[in-house]
Amino acid sequence: APQRDIGADVLEDARTTYELDRRHVFHSWSAQAELDPMTIVGAEGSYIWDGTGRRLLDFSSQLVYTNIGHQHPAVVEAIQRQAADLCTVAPQHANAARSRAAQLIAERTPGDLDQIFFTNGGADAVEHAVRMARLHTGRYKVLSRYRSYHGGTDTAINLTGDPRRWPNDYGSSGAVHFFGPFLYRSAFHSTSEEEESARALEHLEQTVRLEGPETIAAIVLESIPGTAGIMIPPVSYMQGVRELCDRHGIMFIADEVMAGFGRTGRWFAIEHFDVVPDLLTFAKGVTSGYVPLGGVAISRRIGETFDHRPYPGGLTYSGHPLAAAAAVATIEAMEAEGIVENARRIGEEVIGPRLREMQQRHPSIGEVRGAGVFWAVELVKDPVTREPLAPYGGSSPDMAAVLAECKALGLLPFANFNRIHVVPPCTITEAEARAGLDILDRALETADAAVAG
Ligand code: PLP
Repeated sequence: APQRDIGADVLEDARTTYELDRRHVFHSWSAQAELDPMTIVGAEGSYIWDGTGRRLLDFSSQLVYTNIGHQHPAVVEAIQRQAADLCTVAPQHANAARSRAAQLIAERTPGDLDQIFFTNGGADAVEHAVRMARLHTGRYKVLSRYRSYHGGTDTAINLTGDPRRWPNDYGSSGAVHFFGPFLYRSAFHSTSEEEESARALEHLEQTVRLEGPETIAAIVLESIPGTAGIMIPPVSYMQGVRELCDRHGIMFIADEVMAGFGRTGRWFAIEHFDVVPDLLTFAKGVTSGYVPLGGVAISRRIGETFDHRPYPGGLTYSGHPLAAAAAVATIEAMEAEGIVENARRIGEEVIGPRLREMQQRHPSIGEVRGAGVFWAVELVKDPVTREPLAPYGGSSPDMAAVLAECKALGLLPFANFNRIHVVPPCTITEAEARAGLDILDRALETADAAVAG
């Protein structure tokens, strides 16, 4: 495992960093006075070092984006080289890094998604995908599922199907929500995947019919919902949504911001379903988060709309050379080092089997599900009623205790409500994955203590 000598000066600086943060930094999604952020002073591969010099295994990939791990030397060097050559070029000009990044992305997205519109991140990718779908169809409404996350900007937060939408929704966004398939907490009381798929499709069909198909521009779906719980939809469901969209002239937007770029053991999660969307949004893993970048991959059909009609949208930093150079180096490293294949293998051979085995021993584990390095562990107070260990949209002392135990034992997991997500870098080694799962295994004893009976 990588070792690092964290000097006393770095640790002293970390204390100043923390104090300045608490005084001047306004953090996302948080009550500012209640925050106690972890200071991170360094990172390498699958590890981070905190402000006390302690090493933790990063099973969060930060916000599920360091797909090639921290400080990959080829990407660091590519950013440095690009900075020395040419730091910035405005979006109206052509630039080598941007052209090459667009090519590499277009070659990996499915079907005829061969034009790339670059954004600064995921939320603005969703904004622009929706705008393109609206202009292409001349329709306004957009359907999205409950239990989803699409970003923090206006349209994206209104499409989001989680509690962060509630204080942001003023009712004029054109967003309409529906229930997607989720057998463990089925909205349809299904008892099998087939039943869940059929009922969820019927529900969507009815929603489209009653909203008015001719008013609906797009259905936006995370190919595999991430933050909302990593519920892998049945293949028949995703193919059914594609067919429904085709029948009604509705655009299918696949949101791959979290699931894309190797995370599920494929370049894009939509490949698991053999479906080609009309628009595909990406961000996070495209540069492993080293430089902010997102974008929309556009099908020929929608691209043609703007062949002779100006697209009314843009961003100052669209296709920024530093970000584009980071994307090129990231994709090339993923290809050269078999990183997507590593994610698939670690998921199939290490994470999946171990989590399923843990489920047999820990009464607090209600369900485990996932693919690649994209797994959710759903914690419950009662395995029969499936009462979650923390309420939907909230936290609980029991959940906080499990997370504190993970950190105390040297693991940084990603958590949401009653779930722990096992989402390490796609580069994680078998030994690192096993070490992290050993810690999770021990920490879950804390959760077992909270289980009824
Ligand atoms: N879409 C999905 C599926 C996401 O997971 C996220 C972020 O987690 C976003 C969109 C928003 O991306 P960003 O935070 O880069 O704006």
